Amino acid sequence: MYDLLIQNPAVLQFDGAVATVLPTHSIAVSNGRIAAIAPNISAGQAREVLDASGMLAVPGFVNCHAHVPMGLFRGVAEDVLIERWFNDYIWPMESNLTEEDVYWGALLGLAEMIEAGVTTVADHYFAMDEVARAVEQAGTRALLAWAVFGGDGAQERLQDTVAFVERWQDAANGRIRAWLGPHSPYTCEPEFLKQVARQAQALGVGLHIHLSETAEQVRQSLAQHGKTPVAVAHEAGLFAVPTLAAHVAHPEQNDLELLRAGGVAVGSCPKTSMKLGTGVAPVPAMRQVGITVGLGSDGAASNNSYDMLEAARMMALVQKHMAGDPRVLPVSEALALATREGAKALGLGGVTGELREGFQADIVLFRLDAPHLTPQHNLAASLLYSARANDVDTVLVDGRVLMRNRQLLTIDKAQVLREVSERMERLVQRLPNRRIQTYPT
Ligand SMILES: [Zn+2]
Repeated sequence: MYDLLIQNPAVLQFDGAVATVLPTHSIAVSNGRIAAIAPNISAGQAREVLDASGMLAVPGFVNCHAHVPMGLFRGVAEDVLIERWFNDYIWPMESNLTEEDVYWGALLGLAEMIEAGVTTVADHYFAMDEVARAVEQAGTRALLAWAVFGGDGAQERLQDTVAFVERWQDAANGRIRAWLGPHSPYTCEPEFLKQVARQAQALGVGLHIHLSETAEQVRQSLAQHGKTPVAVAHEAGLFAVPTLAAHVAHPEQNDLELLRAGGVAVGSCPKTSMKLGTGVAPVPAMRQVGITVGLGSDGAASNNSYDMLEAARMMALVQKHMAGDPRVLPVSEALALATREGAKALGLGGVTGELREGFQADIVLFRLDAPHLTPQHNLAASLLYSARANDVDTVLVDGRVLMRNRQLLTIDKAQVLREVSERMERLVQRLPNRRIQTYPT
């Protein structure tokens, strides 16, 4: 007897590199995992049946780089250079945040992600106990890292983030994993990065860091250290533990070799990179040499949404555009980046990111009865290029239904929207000389 049967959707799977769609299959779930995917499983074999006729089942999307609570700052800094974005807007405003603000900001982002079919996120922020509490409540999956800067008091801050890892590792029935989160080589001196690497090793965890987001960061690193940010991170010993590097938009040839040899995964954020005009990672070249790449949103203050289908679409489009070649980053590959490859980047390969027996039942059901999804010559292409977040009908994580018929079941959306709007006026204040950090110019 199965716990749950999802009856008769089309099912998106990966056959090696190729996304294939199985017509009218059923997905049986037991103990939070996918127990069977087959054309004929009778309703009598399950305790509960969810009719998904005419829908498309896809693996829950994976967001490999986010600052989830930054939805609180969506739209506050538009059309400005990255230096002003940080120094004049975001870092002053972040000095206003309380723990409770972070909690409601996290729930806001998680609600948006569930509605868009995003079931796993690698988050990198502050007051991460609040984010963990929000994830626990929302029912999603997360790899959480407490962002830490170097400089005065860095030791103490690092110890706080170590304690966070110990508090939350494998919490929420294993849905939460916790890593360390050194912010970047431009805010963490090499000696401090070495300490973080040693701590990660002692804890047996990985780390999540920003690397080479802009060409200017690489130039400054070369001037200061004689090395690229990737080489600085490598030399500090970061790559001795599983490392998730956000952006890496400007790798030099030797950087690619260091990343590959170190088993470093990259979370590439095409919308933020294009919107800030800072450049998009050469993803096909990275994959060519064997680097695992997933997609990220970055914070909603730069990306303005947590929609990973949008990220996959943008990644396919920008890579084709940069190469001047429509054959680059085909449909299957773009969908894999948003699912299977993203899961691998977070060390969750075999756990989530695919609809296969034995994987956790992180499943998204898309409605297909819309003009923009008709006719259905190629469902994978329709998903990548035509579907909208609003087409997501149902979302499950570990076989638990988090949204059904577009109704969120774990988050009180009206309350979240109210809590967030009540906080806005205070949060957007910018006081002179008050900011959490300074972006080097
Ligand atoms: Zn970021």
